[in-house]
Amino acid sequence: MSDYLVKSLVYDGAIRAYAVDATETVGEAQKLHDTWSAASAAFGRSLIGTLLLSASELSGDEKMTVKINGDGSIGAIVVDGNAKGTVKGYVHEPHVHLPLNEKHKIDVKGAVGSQGFLSVTKDLGLKEPFTGQVPLVSGELGEDFTYYLAKSEQIPSAVGLSVFVEDDNTIGVAGGFMIQVLPGASDEILDEIEKKLQEIPLVSEMIRKDGKTPEEILYTLFPKDKVKILEKMPVAYECNCSKERFAEALASLPKKDLEEMIEQDKGAEAVCHFCGKKYEFNEKELTKIMNEANQA
Ligand code: ZN
Repeated sequence: MSDYLVKSLVYDGAIRAYAVDATETVGEAQKLHDTWSAASAAFGRSLIGTLLLSASELSGDEKMTVKINGDGSIGAIVVDGNAKGTVKGYVHEPHVHLPLNEKHKIDVKGAVGSQGFLSVTKDLGLKEPFTGQVPLVSGELGEDFTYYLAKSEQIPSAVGLSVFVEDDNTIGVAGGFMIQVLPGASDEILDEIEKKLQEIPLVSEMIRKDGKTPEEILYTLFPKDKVKILEKMPVAYECNCSKERFAEALASLPKKDLEEMIEQDKGAEAVCHFCGKKYEFNEKELTKIMNEANQA
């Protein structure tokens, strides 16, 4: 895996900035879920957005789930992220192609929809998870993550998410950045950033055409001598499912459902939403799960 994310402080701590090359991460997601172009771009942007948000907001064993539920043709997108740089997720309908939009780009907005919401549920190890939810404002997702940060976290920010999908649906490149304005940033700095954001190419172009690294993406956004790199973190698509976890899920089912699986179906097959792995349970295993659940 060569994907990584960099965390930095810019302009003596007035700005927090993150950049990531997530080409292999999104590539792996595309292969596992067999997403078609519009779904690849929308799912890929969601994975990149979750990587950036998790890197900026989580530490230790904290986790988050980002859910984008719009009225577009792919339906809901769900992505889990953590402080360690791994993500996993799924889209409701992966087989979506759409005609290119008026800018000759993949129609992410058409795939996601423009009515609906983006929600972020954070498991910070407390009793209750924290959930913030905002309506979709664009459906292109970069702006939607930006709106979430402004509205739900009160952090003025700019988010760029970008995926280049090849003609055969595979991922050419994928990456993004997240800029957060901290209290004390001067108007001059904000003007400079705003001007820069108008000029820069898409992150996917920076990676694909210019071969830029995440550090170099930050140097495109800001003067190099103002950027202080704090950390470099590998990122990847990773699912942590196991037969034991599915056994636990089966154990929580009503007894009559388990009996039905044993008597009528003579077994059960569980499929992981996140990676597509299949787990088979035979009659003997199901009986054991049922008996143990009843004793507990
Ligand atoms: Zn899995």
